Amino acid sequence: MRGGRIGVAILGSTGSIGANTLDVLRRHTDRFAVVALTANRNDEVLFQQCLTWEPDFAVMVDPAAAERLQDRLRLAGRPIEVLGGVSGLERVATLPETDYVMAAIVGAAGLLPTLAAAGAGKRVLLANKEALVMAGPLFMATVRQQGAELLPIDSEHNAVFQCLPPGFAVNGLDRAGVRRILLTGSGGPFRLTPLKSLSEVTPAQACAHPNWVMGRKISVDSATMMNKGLEVIEAHWLFDAPPERIQIVVHPQSVIHSMVEYEDGSVLAQLGNPDMRTPIAQALAWPQRMSSGAPSLDFFQLAQLEFQAPDFQRFPCLRLAIAALAAGGTAPTVLNAANEIAVEAFLEGRLRFTDIPAAVEYTLGQVTPRAAEHLNQILEHDAQARRAAGEWVARRTGGGR
Ligand code: NAD
Ligand code: MG
Repeated sequence: MRGGRIGVAILGSTGSIGANTLDVLRRHTDRFAVVALTANRNDEVLFQQCLTWEPDFAVMVDPAAAERLQDRLRLAGRPIEVLGGVSGLERVATLPETDYVMAAIVGAAGLLPTLAAAGAGKRVLLANKEALVMAGPLFMATVRQQGAELLPIDSEHNAVFQCLPPGFAVNGLDRAGVRRILLTGSGGPFRLTPLKSLSEVTPAQACAHPNWVMGRKISVDSATMMNKGLEVIEAHWLFDAPPERIQIVVHPQSVIHSMVEYEDGSVLAQLGNPDMRTPIAQALAWPQRMSSGAPSLDFFQLAQLEFQAPDFQRFPCLRLAIAALAAGGTAPTVLNAANEIAVEAFLEGRLRFTDIPAAVEYTLGQVTPRAAEHLNQILEHDAQARRAAGEWVARRTGGGR
């Protein structure tokens, strides 16, 4: 707590989820105080956020950026402690005055601080799905052992959470009478693009999502539908759901954010405008409710709601993610690492869009999965997969790095 208010640390405050979180908190400064803000290397945005929010701590992972931020805050006469590196992230995630941790770093870089927050028994608001995908068994065991509260921010999982009965986490799917989890997904910007043009699409086209404004990495994942594959793995761990009870439903309008089907045939859905402030406010206020700034859903303006089966031929990443989940152990770790390398290369213009699944498939064939219960096993396979994927990309692009 900080001055009688709930203390929040935001990991990745300069990103899309970070900015949305601050927008929600701005409406509830009587209830919440920002204890820490963190970013990778954008000291300009973090400096502005520090001026507005006056947190106790600011963390820049990049050491040069940390120095620049420290100088600027000193000049501005702000008594904010600046920390650097991953250890700085872990420190603010575990401070006694930190009650809630918004885990909104993108990619594997979020794993250690998010795990530290769970290890310290915090309320973890999980946007960083990659952390759960790469370390599912370890992460969930840590949450259980340390009594952390894990609340999903990913809109689909937040929707499922809202459609499940209270006490679900203790009782599980069967005792709750759940038959299936229906994860909706828009299908991204290339749902209708002719298959033969997919190899020519640009990073700008891939990042232009029809319904959501998000960071570049998740935007590309949405375009390949790897995002939905990662989300199946995420749902498996969050809800202890066997893969065959998780059904992807393509729903281009992104109005239904996901659904839960019960044994009696009832299907509960959570609907709303595509606005991440809704799940963020839901998780901050849970089990209560509070305003988020999201406008009301206008049913009279809604066009038709459509539903389709997922297209595994168009989106091979979906098949790869589901196969990695079935393979178990560190296979999802390898999938995630290879995908991060391939997406980065695509965003830098070094790889074609259609090479992304090829790089991931190659890498999955190179690293034999093993148990994902210990951090060192997970990090080792993450590193091996990055090396193998990097080599594949280098060969594909004709040498170079
Ligand atoms: P973003 O790229 O907009 O922001 C990423 C944040 O992480 C930034 O603050 C950046 O400084 C920080 N960061 C990046 N690399 C880092 C590193 N190596 N070490 C420490 N910090 C680092 O991303 P985003 O769209 O906000 O997504 C964040 C996470 O939330 C992702 O895991 C994404 O899958 C998930 N998510 C996002 C949305 C969305 O609407 N944007 C929806 C669902 C889930
Ligand atoms: Mg999502």
